[in-house]
Amino acid sequence: MEALLDKLSEQHELTEEEIVWFLGHLTPELKNKLYSRASEVRKQYYGVSVYSRGLIEFSSYCKQDCLYCGLRRSNWSAERYRLTEEEILECAAEGYELGYRSFVLQSGEDIHYSEQVITSIVRKLKLRCPDTAVTLSVGERSEGFYRALYNAGVDRYLLRHETASRALYESLHPGMSYDNRMDCLRILRGIGYQVGAGFMVGLPGQTHRHLAEDLLFLKAFHPEMIGIGPFIPHSATPLKEAAGGTVEDTLVMIAMTRLMVPDALMPATTAMGTLDPAGREKAIQAGANVVMPILSPLQIRRKYALYEQKICMGDEPAHCRSCLEMRIAISGYRMDHGRGDHCGYSRLTKKEHQE
Ligand code: SAH
Repeated sequence: MEALLDKLSEQHELTEEEIVWFLGHLTPELKNKLYSRASEVRKQYYGVSVYSRGLIEFSSYCKQDCLYCGLRRSNWSAERYRLTEEEILECAAEGYELGYRSFVLQSGEDIHYSEQVITSIVRKLKLRCPDTAVTLSVGERSEGFYRALYNAGVDRYLLRHETASRALYESLHPGMSYDNRMDCLRILRGIGYQVGAGFMVGLPGQTHRHLAEDLLFLKAFHPEMIGIGPFIPHSATPLKEAAGGTVEDTLVMIAMTRLMVPDALMPATTAMGTLDPAGREKAIQAGANVVMPILSPLQIRRKYALYEQKICMGDEPAHCRSCLEMRIAISGYRMDHGRGDHCGYSRLTKKEHQE
């Protein structure tokens, strides 16, 4: 086991069989060693910085029907909302005042926000908040859409692959295509975005072998950003009786991912903070290096319910910032509100792509 941990820490790779074996034989002692190796590697690449991304959840409408998600179109009890362009810009401006220079615009798959609508929002946001990085996370769209948004100034795109196992993917996403999701990720990469993939831990039917597939996919695809969070069952979805993921299993996957893809930007997700008040700090100790404070208006926040009991529902953005800064400082890290680009990224690269 120690030999496998050494191989993972030094060569940043393991075979599928080795991962499956490793996951099946983890002891509490070994987990702690894994977390500290992950945290050392992260410090080699990013020091003690933890980057912030102000999150604006601008629409809870969704045309997809993912079995695990509270925003799925078949959830008639979900309350839906859309923010106007001006509301979105105001959220960003408030975050900008607080010092944030990186924003994530996320929504369900809501075609109301067409290429024209989002392009206009992004252009205005970039004018109103100079020198910021903008990340979009609005699901599967056409190549033309992705290109237009890149040219409008979007820097990054988050599209979790959810699970790298085709069979598991298909069992959870009626009417969606595994190949299309993977194609979207490749198209985004080809256009020049910093790309975010990622998966949930504790999905029904997910085995160690499935998790090994996730790690090997991430190693091969080498995304700039990797979001990993526990699956939390939502009571108005078909998976309401499922057990869901645990903080501990998620920490193991965060740490192993850090060792497999050492230069990734990895958030300590809200889902971790939801399952355990210290979940995000634990994620940071296990190799995560990004936090995503929510900037969405207070009155709509609870409606963006991918899962229930989400934290920070009543926190003003200013409160969120000081709360996170304190949590990070106590953990021995330093909050960085700058753009927080991937360490291998240069803005020149982006310009070249645009020409
Ligand atoms: N429509 C966008 C954003 C999806 S929401 C897209 O398709 O990319 C962001 C992420 O939340 C999803 O990618 C999924 O991994 C996660 N998520 C959804 N439901 C969840 C649940 N019940 N528990 C934990 N995470 C969930």
